[in-house]
Amino acid sequence: MTDPRTQAQRIHRMRLHRLRLPARAVHSHGVGDVGVVETILLELTDDEGRTGWGEASPWAVFTGTIEANLAALHIHMRERILGADASATEAMLADFDRTVMHCSEAKAALETAMLDLLGQRAGLSIGQLLGGCCHAEIPLSFSVANPDFAADLDTVAALFADGVRLFKMKTGFADHAFDAMRLEKLRGVYGDALDLRIDYNQGMRAHEAIPRLRDLERFRPTFFEQPVPRTNLEAMAAITQAIDTPILADESVFNPREALVGAQMRIADLFSLKIMKSGGMRRALEVAAIARAAGIGVYGGCMFETGIAHAAGAHLMAAIPDLTLGCEFYMSTYYLAEDILADPFPVRAGKVIVPQGPGLGVTVDRARLARYTVETLG
Ligand code: MG
Repeated sequence: MTDPRTQAQRIHRMRLHRLRLPARAVHSHGVGDVGVVETILLELTDDEGRTGWGEASPWAVFTGTIEANLAALHIHMRERILGADASATEAMLADFDRTVMHCSEAKAALETAMLDLLGQRAGLSIGQLLGGCCHAEIPLSFSVANPDFAADLDTVAALFADGVRLFKMKTGFADHAFDAMRLEKLRGVYGDALDLRIDYNQGMRAHEAIPRLRDLERFRPTFFEQPVPRTNLEAMAAITQAIDTPILADESVFNPREALVGAQMRIADLFSLKIMKSGGMRRALEVAAIARAAGIGVYGGCMFETGIAHAAGAHLMAAIPDLTLGCEFYMSTYYLAEDILADPFPVRAGKVIVPQGPGLGVTVDRARLARYTVETLG
């Protein structure tokens, strides 16, 4: 008798949901403000009726556009995805790379939905498919990014009461005095009970960076993230050389190729991993492998996402043994007015609890999905 597990798991149906989800507050960054989260959910159904979910969450000033990612999946890839074997992830991603340039968010969505289907069929979580779960829980970092700092102080107090201890101050969207004032306030209120990090999101010009970072070192940040524009690798390297506090590269390192160049040029002490930058979990593991070989640490980043992409990110980070700086999957719990998962994305006592069920290990609430859907394709 044929073992059903050796037979192909065909993708039978594909549907795209374009969502607009309100946030609780505006978040400001060195490259722009966000108050509404626009994202794409990819829903795949296999020929035995299982549903696999993936998410593409582009941010135009950072990774790419909603429109390009929708078109990549709906126009350019639909015929290649329908009928394909859900277990052939790597071949599908290679085909996607040959068919559409860029659109790493759409590639992450397709990989996630395929691994969700495969994991459900195999009875294994995506983390197990990626090599096994090294961390059952991961410390959560929240980004302090509200231009209304008084409101942010209330948010920090509420999250501190919830057990969150990692806080990342977004800087460089106003002047240096505003950044120093906010850091002084947080250290003054919480002392060393907070693990403080600082993220410029490319918000400084190269000639401004070193004196400002030297000034902010008095607040004892764990790292400075992406102080200058992503393509200015020479300035990133010079800053890493000049500043004692570790420098983290986010926008400068999207994919394995950029990780290799970044490691060779020593543009940072740390790299941020995000499935939306790398084009999925497996490519992010490749970035992590290059970082490990170069003695560069890694951090679990995210974009403006629902619990679907957070779950994929959590499985990825859980599969990385040397992840020591925590992760930032706080959007669905502390940023969105409401997520689309049936059960809240699991955050307890300041830690993300890595989903354990088969596949992604999360369920979409159809009523909430409908509430925030502005367009459905397929
Ligand atoms: Mg960043």
